[in-house]
Amino acid sequence: MGKPTGFMEFERTTVPYSDPNIRVEDFNEFLVIVPEEHLTTQGARCMDCGVPFCQSSTGCPVDNLIPEWNDLVYRGRWQEALTRLHKTNNFPEFTGRVCPAPCENACVLGITNPPVTIKNIENAIIDRGFEEGWVVPNPPEHRTGKSVAIVGSGPAGLAAADQLNKAGHQVTVYERDDRIGGLLMYGIPNMKLGKEIVERRLDVLRAEGIEFVTNANIGVDIEISDLREKNDAVILAVGATKPRDLPIPGRELEGVHFAMEFLKANTKSLLDSKLEDGNYISAKDKDVIVIGGGDTGNDCLGTSMRHGCSSLVNFELLPQPPEDRAPDNPWPQWARIYRADYGHQEAEAKFGDDPREFCVLSKEFIDDGNGKLAGIKTVQVEWTKDDSGRWNMKEIEGSEKEWKADLVFLSMGFLGPEATLAEKLGLDTDQRSNFKAEYGKFATNIDGVFAAGDCRRGQSLIVWAINEGREAARECDRFLMGVTQLP
Ligand SMILES: Cc1cc2nc3c(=O)[nH]c(=O)nc-3n(C[C@H](O)[C@H](O)[C@H](O)COP(=O)(O)OP(=O)(O)OC[C@H]3O[C@@H](n4cnc5c(N)ncnc54)[C@H](O)[C@@H]3O)c2cc1C
Ligand code: SF4
Repeated sequence: MGKPTGFMEFERTTVPYSDPNIRVEDFNEFLVIVPEEHLTTQGARCMDCGVPFCQSSTGCPVDNLIPEWNDLVYRGRWQEALTRLHKTNNFPEFTGRVCPAPCENACVLGITNPPVTIKNIENAIIDRGFEEGWVVPNPPEHRTGKSVAIVGSGPAGLAAADQLNKAGHQVTVYERDDRIGGLLMYGIPNMKLGKEIVERRLDVLRAEGIEFVTNANIGVDIEISDLREKNDAVILAVGATKPRDLPIPGRELEGVHFAMEFLKANTKSLLDSKLEDGNYISAKDKDVIVIGGGDTGNDCLGTSMRHGCSSLVNFELLPQPPEDRAPDNPWPQWARIYRADYGHQEAEAKFGDDPREFCVLSKEFIDDGNGKLAGIKTVQVEWTKDDSGRWNMKEIEGSEKEWKADLVFLSMGFLGPEATLAEKLGLDTDQRSNFKAEYGKFATNIDGVFAAGDCRRGQSLIVWAINEGREAARECDRFLMGVTQLP
């Protein structure tokens, strides 16, 4: 275990983000580099509990061996910590930066004290691994002669590719975008996850023998039937890319965009030309309203801040969460509490207030008379529970309000994968239009076709995508070889 008395001696101290007023000046990663001692001290707080909930399914979805590497970091045995970490997580540099860390919500120390800074320690182990040159290509010694096509290069597709390649199969990943990485590349902005960090891992995967084909829209540029004919198995990892719309009057006005139109164009322009080509939606000197929260909404806030917006508001339909866990939300569940993410902090630092407005229902986009957005009409709502415990929403009379806006970004979630591949393959889908494949088996109704990640489970997290990619790879390997040694 860490230091037996560590949890009593040391306070939780997270790795800080840089000053919000300074970090909005650029799109560089905002995690501050801390001395090694910071991490070893935090590792010392781990109690090595008899039942480590942090690494169980209520905690870490990939079952990271958290107490083991906390202890190894405390003892300064970083390379061994890295070996333990890679046993369960193909890409700790992604989760270490952007995972919401359900593990910390399930940390046993968290019942009475602030939990161990697990995510920071994970990130430090993998970054140290790359710095020291411990992460090197390790191609398989034998090839099986079987080939697998993976459609989609997000964390689910990449994790599946890594695992199947390790098992000796020839893997090709097809991606319709011009860069590999899915939402790691074109969803999560650079300040949260630098793209050189994604490329660094892709270089290792390439050197290990995985092939990547970009600008390949399967079902459009290349038929899915071709991939099936030329390969022994196919894994679909195409994500949940259909955004939820807000079909209220004025939706067609210039200035109303889906969040991903804003975020993707920004990252592409940034990578192509440092934003000099102008091929993005600029929030500079604009009044911006983001409708919807979550990671996507928050990334729209952070990106608008970096463009230099003149005002920023974030509508949430639901009420403000409590400061502490509610009685029906006990440990070790994910705590549904009020949190200020990086975009909220940045907006507050510049404009003086948290940008969030809770219980706001958008009713109409206002036209400036020339087809351009001028604002939004909203109404306040209240939420009450009925006798059966169901929440009901009611508009509050007289609470109508108009807000000035030049740009609105819609960030209200995603509605599953697009239909093209399901239609072409004759895939069964579930009630939410996700590809139907039982968790644990990942096989669709089409022989030799598997599904993993957001296209199967619906919009989720990087860590769940990695979990699904790993497990779908294991089932695919079993399908190909009759037995499998993949975890
Ligand atoms: C803006 C944003 C921010 C987020 N922030 C976080 C965060 O901070 N932490 C976190 O844990 N999660 C976050 N998430 C969620 C997380 O990114 C996803 O859950 C995860 O990326 C899903 O992985 P995936 O591999 O299933 O799909 P994706 O990452 O969506 O990748 C799917 C890929 O398939 C490609 N594709 C689709 N159709 C085809 C086709 N026909 N042919 C070829 N390629 C195709 C797509 O172009 C895409 O590259 C965020 C999501 C968004 C949208
Ligand atoms: S992947 Fe996420 S849940 Fe698992 S240890 Fe890392 S931060 Fe925690």
